[in-house]
Amino acid sequence: MRFLVANDDGIFAPGLRALAEALAARGEVKVIAPEREQSAAGHAVTLHKPLRLVPVSLSGLDVEAYASNGTPADCVALGTIDPEDLPDMVFSGINEGANLGEEVLYSGTASAAMEGAMYDIPSFALSIATEGRPARFDTAARLVHWLVDCFPRGAACRAGFFNVNVPNLPPEEIAGIEITRLGHRRYVNRLSRREDPRGRPYYWFAGEPLERDARPGTDLAAVQAGRVSISPLHFDLTSHGDIDRLSAAVRGRQAPDFGPGAANP
Ligand code: MN
Repeated sequence: MRFLVANDDGIFAPGLRALAEALAARGEVKVIAPEREQSAAGHAVTLHKPLRLVPVSLSGLDVEAYASNGTPADCVALGTIDPEDLPDMVFSGINEGANLGEEVLYSGTASAAMEGAMYDIPSFALSIATEGRPARFDTAARLVHWLVDCFPRGAACRAGFFNVNVPNLPPEEIAGIEITRLGHRRYVNRLSRREDPRGRPYYWFAGEPLERDARPGTDLAAVQAGRVSISPLHFDLTSHGDIDRLSAAVRGRQAPDFGPGAANP
């Protein structure tokens, strides 16, 4: 089994090391990770500068590892550069901090896994809901073995990836594993306004999460209850339920004036 490992916390993050170590016991590991932290980089890729890979040594670990000047998604693209030589699985993380609900849209951890899914490779984003406390990477590392056994090639998420959030608890306190949907939480007071020493304003993302849907069945509820949350996610953002309603709403309406020759809907 060959694993590609990436993250958004950077090549020397302890969570990446814990993940690479757990996977090294199961097969061949190649690590490609950003040279510095890129949390909340989303699915950005680098178009306007050359990408480099610098070999690095993860002390005490006998795995091939590279630091990249690119984004988390770039790292997975670099690791899948040869279509004849794809990894069997992509793992991203282990992120220090949860990626729940809307956070998935910003998460570099999730986007790295999504990049793997674009090549039809079973891909996993792993995060620990640290809530400011030291991360229990040992708990998440045990889960890694379970994931490798449960989701071999062929059991891949249909056209997507698995977003996995682990409660920050010792292994014996984990209350189970739940397959979930995304809940909703957004941030309030997101941008803090301050003044720089010259009296000019600057803004900094901060804020507190406000949960809007943490009902049973959501990723938020599972993690709050001490269970591992596994959400199968895909990148079809279409609101399928709205297609018929919207089609009916525009049918028969006067079309915008696109000029002569334009057909009405
Ligand atoms: Mn991160």
